[in-house]
Amino acid sequence: MNYQGDKERQAQAILQKVFGYASFRGGQAKVINHLLNFTYTLAIMPTGAGKSLCYQIPALLFAGITIVVSPLIALMKDQVDTLNRYGIPVTYINSSLKKREIKERLQEIAKGNYKVIYVAPERLAAEEFVQSLKHVKVDFIAVDEAHCTSQWGHDFRPSYRRIAAFIQNLPQRPLVGAFTATATPEIKSDIIKFLALKEPRVVVTGFDRQNLHYAVLRGQNKQEFVVDYVLANRGKAGIIYAATRNDVDKISELLNKNGILCSKYHAGMRDAERTENQENFLQGKLPVMVATNAFGMGIDKPDVRFVIHYSIPKNLESYYQEAGRAGRDGEPAHCLLLFHPQDVMVQKYLIEETVYSPRRKEHELKKLQMVVDYCHTSKCLRQTLLDYFGDEESRDYCGNCSNCLDDAINVDVTLDAQKALSCVYRLKGRFGSSMVAQVLKGARTKRIRQLKLDHLSTYGLMAEKELAEIRDFLGFLIAEGYLCLTKGKYPVVKLTKNAIDVLKGHKKITRKMPAPKSTRQT
Ligand code: ADP
Ligand code: ZN
Repeated sequence: MNYQGDKERQAQAILQKVFGYASFRGGQAKVINHLLNFTYTLAIMPTGAGKSLCYQIPALLFAGITIVVSPLIALMKDQVDTLNRYGIPVTYINSSLKKREIKERLQEIAKGNYKVIYVAPERLAAEEFVQSLKHVKVDFIAVDEAHCTSQWGHDFRPSYRRIAAFIQNLPQRPLVGAFTATATPEIKSDIIKFLALKEPRVVVTGFDRQNLHYAVLRGQNKQEFVVDYVLANRGKAGIIYAATRNDVDKISELLNKNGILCSKYHAGMRDAERTENQENFLQGKLPVMVATNAFGMGIDKPDVRFVIHYSIPKNLESYYQEAGRAGRDGEPAHCLLLFHPQDVMVQKYLIEETVYSPRRKEHELKKLQMVVDYCHTSKCLRQTLLDYFGDEESRDYCGNCSNCLDDAINVDVTLDAQKALSCVYRLKGRFGSSMVAQVLKGARTKRIRQLKLDHLSTYGLMAEKELAEIRDFLGFLIAEGYLCLTKGKYPVVKLTKNAIDVLKGHKKITRKMPAPKSTRQT
């Protein structure tokens, strides 16, 4: 008999008989199969995708004990209660218990009376806990919220760094599985290193939210856009994210003035007011919420139909998480990102103000640039997001984003690209995109005259275009990898290798542009 198939069948049977679910969700079966083959596995799946089953099912199939390490004390009890209800002997040990209760549970653990034990990471350092495991066989350690191992994440926990030593000291080396929703390359390699995952399989899956429509809008009058959009979608629940408290105040005032009542939320408001506004939003009394990124943690409103980012977020993880608050019910929902170059400066300023280590600062700036690239790419937006997270299920065309939609047309922009690229070449990679745009426009500034840039052959090559349009086009060339920006606070624009073919006329460049629309009545 095929042993592998046998294990898969057993996992399937547990899914149905114990948990009562018909089938695995995307990626779950893969993670479970790796684990059942005793392969160290790092599973990266977004919140709500169903990570718990991925370690619970193997735990039930292994002969020995499974230890689940989790920092979320509140969730621990829930999971344990649920598994107990299914008739599985499971317990947890954390600081919420009395000394006596802990002692009793440790005695039961030593007798081998529990199949799964949930613990907070700090517990692994407690001698009584280590002792209680001396004579039982631990087969599997599941480390939940594994990104806590990494300082690159937002919730680093030193106790996560001691998990590897704990495992090392067990009488027999168990299988280790790590689970998280956060997946940057830095965090990934930290998890593998600090949890000492030997030749792990990394499974990134479940990031696609097919009911969400992604769109980027550049060059809009943002205020008009928001008012128009919300009026056209009256009665629907939506969130508008702004970068600063001041913007939140201004936007909600603007909506109020246009007859749209809305709630607002930012860290500068009193607790009571925030709570009240949040309740009004959740209950649908005021279905539009204007907020900073302080809003949303733990908010589970299923029927949010749109999430508008009034300005760009600081990185694509935040974007995915904030935009992902739309359409939790699986019904179609829209995620709109309004791009304006000025907002990049605001985010840079915020990074400058809040991040102190130079290495970290550079890291944050790099992540911000990926948001800017997302805003300028001609590729499928969903694909760009899935690629960023390393999801295996990405494809070239989704048919449900502003770059895949039928009303966007491909325009040949090779000639403009050659103009812009040769200008960057003439400027010898000494200036930022703002100066490159001014030279292409043929702007008459003092600085340009002083530097004699008006003598360059590329000066004024795109004089017929608006300055903002030229800057936007440079953003596109950066996003598509023909130009690049140097690191640091004042990046300069340089050519990449890809630019050479275009300059030599060996390569054509096309760009997705919105098809001309019939004029809107205002
Ligand atoms: P995560 O830890 O990834 O945030 P959970 O493990 O808490 O997600 O699962 C989210 C929800 O999805 C839970 O209510 C869980 O019972 C449910 N779920 C998980 N897997 C399946 C499945 N295969 N079929 C149906 N529901 C599932
Ligand atoms: Zn698409």
